[in-house]
Amino acid sequence: MGVRLASGDRLASLEGRSPTIATLCSHSSLQIFHGARAEGLATLGLCVGRPPKFYDAFPLARPDRFVSVPRVKDLAGVEPQLKEQAAIVVPHGSFVEYLGAELFGKLDVPVFGNRAVLGWEYDREKEREWLESAGVAMPRRYADASEVDGPVIVKYFGAKGGKGFFLAKNRRALEGFRPEGPHVIQEYILGTRYYMHFFYSPLSDRGYRVGHGSLELLGMDRRDEANIDELYKLGAQEELLKAGLRPTFVVTGNVPVVLRESLLERAFETAARIVERSIELFGGMVGPFCVEGIMTEELQFKVFEISTRIVAGTNLFISGSPYSDLVAPDLSTGRRIAKEILLARSEGRLAEILS
Ligand code: ATP
Repeated sequence: MGVRLASGDRLASLEGRSPTIATLCSHSSLQIFHGARAEGLATLGLCVGRPPKFYDAFPLARPDRFVSVPRVKDLAGVEPQLKEQAAIVVPHGSFVEYLGAELFGKLDVPVFGNRAVLGWEYDREKEREWLESAGVAMPRRYADASEVDGPVIVKYFGAKGGKGFFLAKNRRALEGFRPEGPHVIQEYILGTRYYMHFFYSPLSDRGYRVGHGSLELLGMDRRDEANIDELYKLGAQEELLKAGLRPTFVVTGNVPVVLRESLLERAFETAARIVERSIELFGGMVGPFCVEGIMTEELQFKVFEISTRIVAGTNLFISGSPYSDLVAPDLSTGRRIAKEILLARSEGRLAEILS
């Protein structure tokens, strides 16, 4: 038996009814709706303003019904409608971003996953505390520019999508640097990036066991980031900086990747430690999460961030990935979420996966 995350009151609207899967129309919602429908569940799309017209172009993913609100902050006001529909809200990155972690944390409807994770993910200090205490290798953080002994990336707090991050090859290149706000100076890891899509089920009693449940790997991607990915075509960094060009890391898309098979063991061990520590710290992460890091030439994996809900890179794998195909056919992360909800329902264990 896993940890009970939701009170009976929170789950009252689901009593004896088939749930409806609800999420905000953005990010990975088409995949979430498609997966829910494949499992026979009803779907509800929340939108700000009119439903997106392009959803009409995807009949297998368009939700059964929409609920529109004029402004983002009005989303909290649709709680009664959501309860009436026996809705389970599936959060994705944009959902929490648009609504704000505080409002999201207070939503009075059943939400898939453990909301307590928010307090550990949104504060970079606490995220580091969680990962480092789990024994996960992270890029070094310098307290002061004078300590720098190699290439660094300067990250501004709240720089959505890494806008305006500053790169420096060494301490000398940092000399003229004037920070534009609160920031961290972090070791720049040279290597190749991997964004690994894991799924932790506290209910499953087979497969790769972690805690009372099991860990699955459902896919992997690399993000396309503008303008950094193409910046090299214009020449050396120093010259670009002189010309007033700054690197940005704005995600514009995703490409599929696989890891050398021999490195999978390390990937699983890293993810397992993150889950185990989450159970100790706040009752455990549930469902999809993404471990984002860089594999060095020494084959060390350094994690610079984790996302604790479905990431948009999973949209690559609507009908499965080279990893999820080895778990079950046609298994997207969206569909995996629906399966977990159905399993929990049939076993009377919804309180362990919803909060
Ligand atoms: P988002 O919230 O959109 O993920 P962010 O502002 O939290 O962005 P990060 O995810 O930390 O920023 O980093 C953005 C990008 O910068 C990464 O995808 C990666 O390409 C690069 N990056 C981050 N940290 C490092 C590092 N230590 N070494 C090398 N590259 C890095």
